[in-house]
Amino acid sequence: MIMDVAANEIQAIRLAAQALERGEVIAIPTETVYGLAADATNERAVVRIFEVKRRPSFNPLICHCSDLDMVSEYAILDPVSLRLAKAFWPGPMTLVLKSNPEHRLPSRTTAGLETVAIRIPAGFSNELIRSFGRPLAAPSANISGKVSATAAAHVRDDFGDEVPLILDGGPTEIGVESTILMVKDGGVELLRPGGLPIETLQPVANVPISARTFEGRLLAPGMLKSHYAPRATVRLEATEVRRGEALIKFGSDTVPGEADCPHVFNLSPRGDLAEVAAALYAALKLADEVGVSEIAIVPIPISGLGLAINDRLSRAAAPRGLSPDEAVLGRL
Ligand code: AMP
Ligand code: MG
Repeated sequence: MIMDVAANEIQAIRLAAQALERGEVIAIPTETVYGLAADATNERAVVRIFEVKRRPSFNPLICHCSDLDMVSEYAILDPVSLRLAKAFWPGPMTLVLKSNPEHRLPSRTTAGLETVAIRIPAGFSNELIRSFGRPLAAPSANISGKVSATAAAHVRDDFGDEVPLILDGGPTEIGVESTILMVKDGGVELLRPGGLPIETLQPVANVPISARTFEGRLLAPGMLKSHYAPRATVRLEATEVRRGEALIKFGSDTVPGEADCPHVFNLSPRGDLAEVAAALYAALKLADEVGVSEIAIVPIPISGLGLAINDRLSRAAAPRGLSPDEAVLGRL
């Protein structure tokens, strides 16, 4: 069932909390992408997330909390993490923190690690967690390796009735997943670029920010494993569109070949990267629906949200045919 959150938010929260209490997996809107959520403290419910999503069990889940008190029950906040938390939560930032040894989440949630990835989301999902009273483990609401869901219909397309309750909060505001950070050796390590740009968090962190594989540059797509992938192949840095391709672009410039291309998706005519991020996944899914075998995508700058956009596109363009396990291993 798809339930419109705006029509009756109180009813939506009540139904969702009841389903979570029963140990069910439900789909919820967050400001980044839709999440496949279950009670993070209920091991059987968490196992069900992995089954429904076909996610390898060694890939830990992000636990979503409503406030810092809830975070502190399960994790220990070092001073730099606390500064980031106060500045950017609720928001599109995930912190990998030391687990609180007195109150650990089930090992299926954290994949048996001594750390736990935590985020405080904004909006409806925050209200739901507050009302439910416990953290929600929630990866993106898509089948492992596919493009993340940014609308309720995307969730239904991937899972059908396997997810009995899908809460529809409209299209997600940010449209890419959270930025994942870990404070380590006096610095901040970027584990995944995302909805919170590095340029925004740098002055607050006020310590060096490093990236294990990023170093501020894009990796060659060939070095990456496929993920966030549509069915069609993806051709990046396209300076022209070829016969039979769909085109994803932004801005007002005309791309050579565009006049003959029946499937042009302009993600932001005014060239705003936040609009590009918000519209990207829906455009990849639409390009698949029109049945093209290749999607040409114009170059996108790597500053601000462009870093996360380019990261996802590089993975979407990476070689196919890998097992889901290999695909996940290839992620940042
Ligand atoms: P997803 O739920 O698909 O948005 O991805 C969550 C990401 O968080 C995965 O890439 C995980 O590897 C990462 N993650 C979750 N928990 C931890 C942790 N304890 N340490 C490091 N990375 C984590
Ligand atoms: Mg995901």
